[in-house]
Amino acid sequence: SQVPMAVNEPVNSYAPGSHEVKSLISTYKTMWKESIEIPMIIGGKAIKTAEEVKLYSPQDHQHSVGFYHKGDMSHVEQAIESALKAKEQWNKLGWEHRAAIFLKAADLVAGPYRDRLNAATMIGQSKNVHQAEIDAACEFIDFLRFNVEFMTEMYSEQPISDNGIWNRSEYRPLEGFCFAVTPFNFTAISGNLPSCMAMLGNVVVWKPSDKQIYSAHVIMEIFREAGLPDGVINMIFTDGKETAEKVLAHPDFAGLHFTGSTAVFQGMWKMIGNNIHTYKTYPRIVGETGGKDFIMVHPSANAQAVATAMVRGAFEYQGQKCSAASRAYIPQSLWNEVKDIVGQQLKSIKIGSPEDPSNFVNAVIDKNSFEKCKGYIERAEKSDVAEVVFGGTCDDSKGWFVHPTVILTSNPQYESMVEEIFGPILTVFVYEDSEWTNTLKIVDQTSPYSLTGSIFAQDRYAVSEAYNALENAAGNFYINDKPTGAVVGQQPFGGARASGTNDKAGSKMNLMRWVSVRSVKETF
Ligand code: GLU
Repeated sequence: SQVPMAVNEPVNSYAPGSHEVKSLISTYKTMWKESIEIPMIIGGKAIKTAEEVKLYSPQDHQHSVGFYHKGDMSHVEQAIESALKAKEQWNKLGWEHRAAIFLKAADLVAGPYRDRLNAATMIGQSKNVHQAEIDAACEFIDFLRFNVEFMTEMYSEQPISDNGIWNRSEYRPLEGFCFAVTPFNFTAISGNLPSCMAMLGNVVVWKPSDKQIYSAHVIMEIFREAGLPDGVINMIFTDGKETAEKVLAHPDFAGLHFTGSTAVFQGMWKMIGNNIHTYKTYPRIVGETGGKDFIMVHPSANAQAVATAMVRGAFEYQGQKCSAASRAYIPQSLWNEVKDIVGQQLKSIKIGSPEDPSNFVNAVIDKNSFEKCKGYIERAEKSDVAEVVFGGTCDDSKGWFVHPTVILTSNPQYESMVEEIFGPILTVFVYEDSEWTNTLKIVDQTSPYSLTGSIFAQDRYAVSEAYNALENAAGNFYINDKPTGAVVGQQPFGGARASGTNDKAGSKMNLMRWVSVRSVKETF
C-alpha cells in the first residue's frame, strides 16, 4: 500500500490516579467553566447570528456550558454555494493531498486534541471517560486512518490492459454536493460522515445534531488545523426539517449520508423521491437508523458471559447506542442464575456525572429521553404482563439520570420488547427451554429493525441453527459476545430492514457509495 497501514488506535485505560485521567478531568473542569461561544463554519468563516442558543450539559440541566449561533435558510444557501465553489479546486487536488489532511487530523485527535475532544463529548453528550475514549478518540481516529487506507486501495486498483487496449476505472467524486446529517450519540460518527465523503473529493454541507454541537465544534477545529480548505465541509446549526427541505430540493444535491432516526430518514427519502426530476444525477442515499437489538440465549450458554453482555450491552452509554441490547430471550433453566449475576453487577454500578470517572452510568441526553424512559418504567410497573426487576429509579433533580432498568415480561410482544427506547432499559422474556426453535422465530419477527444481535450458546448445533434462523435479523451478528462496540477495520458496522441501507460505516463498501466511476477504454 502507498500509505501507512492503518492499525487500531490503542485505547487509553485511564487508570485511577494516572497522569492521563488527571489531565482529562482537569480539561473537563476548565471547559465546564469557560462558557464557549460556537459559530457555524461556512466557506471557512466563523458565522455568528443574533440567535444565540444556550448549551446545557445532560448531567446538570441548570448549568450552561456556552452557546451556539443558530442559522436560518440563508445560511443553508450559503453553505451550498460555498461547497460548490470549493469543489472547483478540491476536485482537482491529488488524492495524496486530501489523504494527508485527514491523516494529520487523526494525529491531532490522537495527540494534542485528545483531551479536548473527549472532554467535549463528556460534557455535551454525557459519556464517561471510557465511553468518550472509545468513541471520540479511538473510533474517530480509526475511521480517518482506515478510510484513507481503503481509499488508497480503491485508487490503486490495477488497470487491465491487453493487446493494445488499456481499460481503467476512474473513481470520481459525485457531481454536485453531499449532505451529512449526524447524530448525538457518537462523536466518531459525526466526524466520519462528512470526512469520508470529503476525502474522496466531495464537498459537504454538514448538519450535526443540536445535542452534539460542542464536540462537533471541536471536530471542525481539528479539520481546520489539519489544513482542510475553506468550503469543503460547511457546518451549519439550523432547523432540521427546513434544512432538509432546502438542501434536498437543490439541483446539485448528489448524496445523503445520514445517521439518526428511522422516521427522519424515511421523511428525507420521500423528499428526495418527490424532487427526483430536479436533480442532475440520482443521489446516493446512505442511512443508519436505529435498532431493537437482541440477546438470544440457548440453554447451553454460559450464564456469567450472558449476564456481563446484558449489563455492558444494555447500559454502557445509558443504552444510547444504536447497537445497544434492548431485548433479551433467556431460557427458564438459566434465568435465576443470570438474574442473580446481573443483580450483583448492577449493585456495583455507580451513577452520576462523568466528572467522576468511576461513574459507569451518566445522564441520558435530554428531557425528552428522560420522560420517554420514565414512561416505559411507569407503564411496566402498572402492567399485568410486565414487572421491573432491577432499577426503575429516575432522578431529574440535577441532570437526566435514569437507573439501569431491567423489565421482565411474559409477553414477547410487550411494548418495551418491541419499540426502540434509546435509554438504559433492557426487557427480558423468559422462554421454556423446549421452545428454543419457536423463540428464534419470535426474535426474527418481533422487530422491524435489523442492526445488531447476539446469540449465546456453547452447543455448536444451536449456534448454527440461530445463525441460519436469524440471517436477516442483524447486520452485525455476535456469537457469545455483547452486541455493541464494533471496531473499525474489524467489524464493518450497519444493518438492513428498518435499520438502514447497510452500507457498513468504516469500510470500502461505504466509500464506494461516494464515488461515481468512469470506465475508460483506450485503444493504442
Ligand atoms: N458502532 C457502534 C457500536 O457498535 C454503534 C453505532 C451507533 O450507535 O450508531 O456499538
